[in-house]
Amino acid sequence: MPTSPTYDDVLAAALRLQGHAHRTPVLTSRTADQRLGARLFFKCENFQRMGAFKFRGAFNALSRFDAAQRQAGVITFSSGNHAQAIALSAQLLGIPATILMPQDAPQTKIDATRGYGGEVILFDRFRQDRESLTRELAGQRGLTLIPPYDHPDVIAGQGTAAKELFDEVGKLDCLLVPLGGGGLLAGSALVARALSPACQVYGVEPEAGNDGQQSFRSGAIVHIETPRTIADGAQTQHLGQHTFAVIRRDVDDVLTASDAQLVEAMRFFAERMKMLAEPTGCLGFAAACHGGLALAGKRVGIIVSGGNVDLRRFGELLAS
Ligand SMILES: *Cc1c(COP(=O)(O)O)cnc(C)c1O
Repeated sequence: MPTSPTYDDVLAAALRLQGHAHRTPVLTSRTADQRLGARLFFKCENFQRMGAFKFRGAFNALSRFDAAQRQAGVITFSSGNHAQAIALSAQLLGIPATILMPQDAPQTKIDATRGYGGEVILFDRFRQDRESLTRELAGQRGLTLIPPYDHPDVIAGQGTAAKELFDEVGKLDCLLVPLGGGGLLAGSALVARALSPACQVYGVEPEAGNDGQQSFRSGAIVHIETPRTIADGAQTQHLGQHTFAVIRRDVDDVLTASDAQLVEAMRFFAERMKMLAEPTGCLGFAAACHGGLALAGKRVGIIVSGGNVDLRRFGELLAS
């Protein structure tokens, strides 16, 4: 069992990512500031390579492979941004990538993953268990599994986004982070504790799937059915062992946002800030607006985690 990640691991990840990941912009909006009576800093990972912060964790993890692992290759399972993150990182590092995706994943995501050179293996998610399928393939082919969130190198890589934010804007009173399996939140919390110890760190997950909130408040990982929400990047059923250990220790609370609040935030980003964020990427801002936090007069960091939403879907959501 690898050991729990630390802030030093985030620093090492930042060095590995230099020249490979984009240093994404930190944007501000006077309209948003006026609305909340606070000073907001949006760390825009929707402008990251492949469109989400997941490139950071994937590239960091693959950079640590030894020669034998590089030659044999990586395997993962994902229907979303982690699939593209692994495929692109593997292509950049010259490592073969095998990615299990559900048959009914959006064709655009399957195409994007193949476009980055990943070998996509489709499976039937109603009949086949993806974890045992992954293990079987990994065993047969000698591949190393890099899961979407529950891995110390993935957590350390994801933390580099928050590190760039603090490096750029200094200390914050509060940081709001989208939460699925907890890789981004755990990495961000490690950084906040090191660089801005008094900063309150909140995870934000979809209201329909508040397993993270239940887990945080009860002190044990709670499993739920796959939630129905437009935040497809946060449709996880449970936190991970590694992510939960850090979240329990370093996070202040877990909040939720409804789908309607996510659409409102998406519209704000598009109209006022001229940018495209996917529903999951809007969790932090939605909670800043509706989460009941007392933000007046505070300096607030918000991680906009990704921008991968197809335009037809985007239009449908805004019209609804
Ligand atoms: C994966 C993902 C999340 C959730 O990240 P975790 O590390 O699983 O908590 C949030 N937003 C986007 C855009 C994602 O792709």
